[in-house]
Amino acid sequence: MNFRETLKVNGKGHLEIGGMDTVEIAEKFGTPLYVFDEDYIRKMIRVYKDTIEREYDGNGLVLYASKAFSCEAVYAIARQEEIGVDVVSGGELYTALKAGFSLKKAYMHGNNKLFRELEFAIENGIGNIVVDSFREADIIEEIAGSKGIKQNVLIRINPGVEAHTHAFIQTARTDSKFGFSISDGSAEELILHILNKKNIVLKGYHCHIGSQIFEKRSFELAAHKVMDFSAKIKRTLGFEAAELNMGGGFGVWYNDEDPRFKPADYAEYLTVLIKAIKEKALEHGLKLPYLLIEPGRSIIGEAGITLYTVGAIKDIKGVKKYVAVDGGMFDNPRYALYQSKYSVLLANKANEACTDKVTVAGKCCESGDIIAVDVPLPTAKEGDIMAVLTTGAYNYSMASNYNRNFVPAAVLVKDGRADYIIKPQNYEDIVRNDCIPERLKK
Ligand SMILES: *Cc1c(COP(=O)(O)O)cnc(C)c1O
Repeated sequence: MNFRETLKVNGKGHLEIGGMDTVEIAEKFGTPLYVFDEDYIRKMIRVYKDTIEREYDGNGLVLYASKAFSCEAVYAIARQEEIGVDVVSGGELYTALKAGFSLKKAYMHGNNKLFRELEFAIENGIGNIVVDSFREADIIEEIAGSKGIKQNVLIRINPGVEAHTHAFIQTARTDSKFGFSISDGSAEELILHILNKKNIVLKGYHCHIGSQIFEKRSFELAAHKVMDFSAKIKRTLGFEAAELNMGGGFGVWYNDEDPRFKPADYAEYLTVLIKAIKEKALEHGLKLPYLLIEPGRSIIGEAGITLYTVGAIKDIKGVKKYVAVDGGMFDNPRYALYQSKYSVLLANKANEACTDKVTVAGKCCESGDIIAVDVPLPTAKEGDIMAVLTTGAYNYSMASNYNRNFVPAAVLVKDGRADYIIKPQNYEDIVRNDCIPERLKK
């Protein structure tokens, strides 16, 4: 197997992440465990930052889409790297604040933000709210008015480009729950609605065309459509967007069906996007908008792996061989949710030939509790350490206490040391919010 930059195999035949032996990490911290390489996270952030600097005169900001992996340490990294973040709930906002992240550089998303979440965001000085309903605009107007604040917003538009991994489709209309269509007049109506508000300042537009996208043309096409729309709104309503947020969605490698991009390849994506914006600004005589991008998965996905210990092995002769691990859908529900594919290896036998084909199962009481189906592996034995790659994004953030299992801890590796960024849970954590009504105590 041909590894990404963060991973290699050492002289003992053990997998290393960020220069540390994963078998030693597993011994020290136990399993299941999420492990992140800090240098890789910072490297990916800098690829995007440097590209905006070089190709767009620094006239923009990288927002880390923190729904991919949200915890205090990750906002601390974003703060040190001087990027922004996007948040999608009161909980993410609270976590960012607790990590000392200034909400001036935070953008808030959501198709149904709650009143209390909007109030919390505005009170704490959220930089920008991406409006996704008429009702939301009314609520922001009310809260901002009552606090004497002029709140910056973008509106979420739907450019009619939908991208999925290797393909994209153009749609005139869309049935997405997100955004307002630019083709049926609904985006224009929302703009008018907001331009009439006293306590809201409309800065521009946001769009996000999908996730795990490898097709550069889809970003180019979306940028063209949004800029054409911006020119049209300038003509019809006299409003010119000062900001353009093109969302995230850059793809990562999970298994060999995906291209194996190097960090520098992501600069290519962004350069194509920037070129499309510049062309259209020139064509329509628009000012170059302040550019925001929101990569989540591509910053954190490949920076993370999950370590498990192999337990029960069940060989259903001629049918399937199951290797069960001490984790499962409670730490990684993505196979159960959408049959996501992962690459798996034995961290303590990383040089051994893959002579077996196995299905990696979790320990939950669900047949759908699977991590990977029919993947190549050396012969596994109880006690082997299994590594699942590219689990940095949408794993911990989607984890649960299903079956009252513990959500695993996470460690961050840097310069030959590993530190907790999420501590392990214990039984007390599991029952923390339980209570028994008096009548049940008799
Ligand atoms: C999920 C999401 C992102 C991040 O997407 P990735 O595929 O992780 O890069 C960015 N912006 C919005 C609005 C999102 O919903």
